[in-house]
Amino acid sequence: MLRPLSRYNNKVAEKNEIRNLGLRLTPQRELVLNAVRELGHATPEEVAEKVRQVHPGINLSTVYRNLETLENVGLVLHTHLGHGGATYHASEELTHLHLVCSVCGSIGDAPITAAASFVQGLLDDYGFHTDVTHFAITGTCENCSETINKIS
Ligand SMILES: [Zn+2]
Ligand SMILES: [Zn+2]
Ligand SMILES: [Zn+2]
Repeated sequence: MLRPLSRYNNKVAEKNEIRNLGLRLTPQRELVLNAVRELGHATPEEVAEKVRQVHPGINLSTVYRNLETLENVGLVLHTHLGHGGATYHASEELTHLHLVCSVCGSIGDAPITAAASFVQGLLDDYGFHTDVTHFAITGTCENCSETINKIS
């Protein structure tokens, strides 16, 4: 599908996108959004640390507030990779499953289509619309599985 703003450069498209959503692109919000984009996946603490490199005065609650605003207009999304709080990623990344290894802690991703039959089954049998992206899938990664198999 053609993106309507593809003839503009990303920076311009992004500013228009935010303006269209009725959200003023404050310098702080732009810093927070760019930090999430650069980090790929980041907790609010990691975002704050990144933003402080250019804006030393910013406090954590401001970062939380900005992340919330950006999430409300769909520019960032959050997921839970463990027992703790939210980890953010930019919403222009394709929606993906998060695969967290409980042995080494690595985070992999898989296309959402990998869960298609699971999602369809829950819809067919229970009428339930499943969001498989909000929480991570935990297990043992390929590397760790091989190591464990060698030992046993
Ligand atoms: Zn959540
Ligand atoms: Zn992600
Ligand atoms: Zn592992």
